[in-house]
Amino acid sequence: MTPNEVVKFAKENDAKFVDFKFLDFVGIWQHFATPISEFSEDIFEEGLGFDGSSIRGWQPIHNSDMLLIPDPTTAKIDPFIEMTTLSLICNIFDPVTREGYTRDPRFIAQKAEAYLKSTGIADTAYFGPEPECFIFDDVRYSSSSNESFYAIDSVEGIWNTGREEFPNLGYKPKNKGGYFPVAPTDSMVDLRNEMMMVLQEVGMVVECGHHEVATGGQCEIDMRFDSLLAMGDHLQWFKYVLKNVAFRNGKTVTFMPKPIYGDNGSGMHCHQSLWKDGKNMFAGDGYGGLSKMAMYYIGGIMKHAKALCAFTNPTTNSYKRLVPGYEAPVNLAYSNRNRSASLRIPVTSNEKAKRVEYRTPDPSANGYLAFAAMLMAGLDGIENKIDPGQPLDKDIYGLSPEELKDIPNVATSLEDALNNLEADHAFLLKGDVFTPDVIEMWVNYKRSAEVDPVRMRPVPEEFALY
Ligand code: GLN
Ligand code: MG
Ligand code: MG
Ligand code: MG
Repeated sequence: MTPNEVVKFAKENDAKFVDFKFLDFVGIWQHFATPISEFSEDIFEEGLGFDGSSIRGWQPIHNSDMLLIPDPTTAKIDPFIEMTTLSLICNIFDPVTREGYTRDPRFIAQKAEAYLKSTGIADTAYFGPEPECFIFDDVRYSSSSNESFYAIDSVEGIWNTGREEFPNLGYKPKNKGGYFPVAPTDSMVDLRNEMMMVLQEVGMVVECGHHEVATGGQCEIDMRFDSLLAMGDHLQWFKYVLKNVAFRNGKTVTFMPKPIYGDNGSGMHCHQSLWKDGKNMFAGDGYGGLSKMAMYYIGGIMKHAKALCAFTNPTTNSYKRLVPGYEAPVNLAYSNRNRSASLRIPVTSNEKAKRVEYRTPDPSANGYLAFAAMLMAGLDGIENKIDPGQPLDKDIYGLSPEELKDIPNVATSLEDALNNLEADHAFLLKGDVFTPDVIEMWVNYKRSAEVDPVRMRPVPEEFALY
């Protein structure tokens, strides 16, 4: 839609409010609304001022005025606001220079797309993330119903391997038993269907929804792949829709990667491919039906994987998922079909579907940043012809320590990832996609707001041990 079309769209729908959404650096949508009477085409030129100092990781208080300009192509009706509301995703600008704000994740995604074009390697990068999540009972409803035990158990599961449940919940899948018997073992059918309906209402193409491997309530819903920026926007809508549909139904959704000890965590495998003039540049006649370019892309991801973790697995909890035995890849290897490798080449005879699936990322990632960072790593691989070595077509979980010795690992903790990012980020700075300021702010923010507070707190397991 053009600005003019957006104004018409708002009128046609009799919208009463306009909701302006933008992403903070950590990955949570922020918003404010104006009555429709305040809305005109001019906003797409002039923008709206706001205080950037209260947003995590953004502007200091003495320099806090920021400008927000909505992107007319993102116009939709927000399905969760009772009075009809037009919703717009915005970019952030410096009000003085009127340049894009370097710490705006959406701007970083836009610069990554521009950088890709400037290299001539390809014109479009496609991303197909598979976000998994857990659906738990909302504490608002869990005090008197039987299901309360279910929620409490889910929480206690963080530090209990066994569990006692009263009353009997025999239908509930055991740990790792959720993939994927029918109802009532799958107790999320109607909720998932409602989520998929609303996702379609807001314009997502939904491909599939199912229960996942972990005990009652782990789900996956997959969207059709799209280009980098568009997928960044879709992922925000995706999280918003899932959380709000759950909320309406007395449930709560978490994209926390490992809420339950002893069971599978939630990943966000990312399928990716590069296209030029409508042609899939990853299709070829090499290993797994991939091109040389795809191999170098894999080489780039493997080379920078530890630093990438700071964006693809950006929470302290991410590393509780990245342990052997739970379908989450710990080792850096690529393989045809092999789900224990961090990079899988899905089997397909369709040239258009040739792609690489990177399985390390998890849904706590900010999509814009994670997609942009992976693209930059892959491009670095292509530009420098980084050879990914030989594929590893074995069950990596079954290898002996001796055999594992020479296989590199992903980062082992958020601290490890941040240290690696500090040492290895030149590949992200090309084309000013990420700036030194952004890397520095991210590392400092993550250390002070997440790594340190978690490290300094005694955890329940320590009480059991000591
Ligand atoms: N939940 C697993 C992970 O953490 C993936 C399971 C699957 O999709 N096969 O990555
Ligand atoms: Mg899947
Ligand atoms: Mg899955
Ligand atoms: Mg997958």
